[in-house]
Amino acid sequence: MEFTRSVPVEHNQVTLDLIKDRIRNIPDYPKPGIQFKDITTVLKEKVFFSFILDRLGALYRDKKITKVVAVEARGFIFGGALAAALGAGFVPIRKPGKLPAGKNRVDYKLEYGEDAIEIHKDARTPGDVVLLHDDLLATGGTSKAAVRLIEITAPVQIFLNFIVELDFLHGRENIGNYAITSLIHY
Ligand code: AMP
Repeated sequence: MEFTRSVPVEHNQVTLDLIKDRIRNIPDYPKPGIQFKDITTVLKEKVFFSFILDRLGALYRDKKITKVVAVEARGFIFGGALAAALGAGFVPIRKPGKLPAGKNRVDYKLEYGEDAIEIHKDARTPGDVVLLHDDLLATGGTSKAAVRLIEITAPVQIFLNFIVELDFLHGRENIGNYAITSLIHY
């Protein structure tokens, strides 16, 4: 059985390096060869959760974000909280068959498989400044598909943000010419 260290930490002692150190690596999950970055070890600590939310909010506070769009399921964890922190609305991008009303769909490839995502057609508001958030950027396939869905709604600008980015997969090169930030890099 695997244990992670859980020494209590005060908010003013938290650093991104400490959070990076606490993210659990699961080798060969969900497929051989994948180093899965498990953020649940960080989410459960209140000081880490609030630190990450503060950092994300600080990055986008002056960008006049009107909608945070997040990808099911781990993107929802900070996506909704970030929308509230920025005074923005929240739009879910979901797996096929989950959204109840009229929707657009894009099929794409994952680091470990294939998938599709959908967004409600009425997610559009003219003049939106969109922040697309997900927990992790790997190959960029998911985010590229999400950007295609968001582009259908013709926003003024799209920013992208991730908690974790796997630099060695060069995902941001796959996404295109958008402003991208990630808090933690591997
Ligand atoms: P990608 O489309 O390759 O950029 O994959 C990004 C999506 O897959 C994100 O929603 C992640 O939650 C998940 N994902 C891909 N690779 C990993 C990984 N090594 N560790 C954790 N999550 C991953």
